[in-house]
Amino acid sequence: MPMDQSEAVVLRTYPFADQDKIAVLFSKEKGVLRGVAKGARKFGNRFGSGLEPMSVIRVFYYEKERRDLVTISNCDLLESFFDIQKDLRTAFTLSYFAELIEETSPSRAADELLYRLLLSVLRCLAAGGDLAFLTGYFEAWFLRAAGLLPDLGRCKACRKPLAGPSWLSPKRDGAYCADCAPSKKDDVPPEAAAFLEWVRKNPPSETCPVSFPAGSLAGIRKALQTLIIHHLEKEPKTLRCLKDNT
Ligand SMILES: [Zn+2]
Repeated sequence: MPMDQSEAVVLRTYPFADQDKIAVLFSKEKGVLRGVAKGARKFGNRFGSGLEPMSVIRVFYYEKERRDLVTISNCDLLESFFDIQKDLRTAFTLSYFAELIEETSPSRAADELLYRLLLSVLRCLAAGGDLAFLTGYFEAWFLRAAGLLPDLGRCKACRKPLAGPSWLSPKRDGAYCADCAPSKKDDVPPEAAAFLEWVRKNPPSETCPVSFPAGSLAGIRKALQTLIIHHLEKEPKTLRCLKDNT
């Protein structure tokens, strides 16, 4: 049976059978892969810390025809993000990223843009980057990469630039001025367009280089999360955890 290999980020693992684990991996070459790691729950097993969440590994595996699960034979740890997860907020945030990727990425289809996004945000966090800013950066690119980020700088109906109070309508896929808004439930901070424009043009950095009035990054993230929840048709479990615990 031919052995395959790929670079991958471990999204999560869970117990399987007596001594095994199922690992959900986000691989560079094949997108989301689910595999059995035999014996991974035994003391001193050959996977070591390679299967910790967000470990970057080179994974060696083989697949059987018409099986959803590959068999993971071994892995080499390339980069660890274990230490940053001692901070509870960071740990919850990373499991939120993992859930978004697992929920939306089709199995066995490479998504290099999303893969590079995850890695670069992880590296910025490990370098001491600002968690709220980098989470907003991830959320914005996650939506953009999926083609789900509407123009938050112009009213979708009258096309006027949104300078004053404006409102999001996920159902109608856009932002609206006070005159055109179908409902005034979810507001869009006026700084959202500038933030998204910066995110579109720049790689992530450790701190937000655009200065905003206090609270507007939280408002922008709330608008992005409203879009994410609308498109997933549910609130990610991990986002609820993140809100409850931070
Ligand atoms: Zn309008």
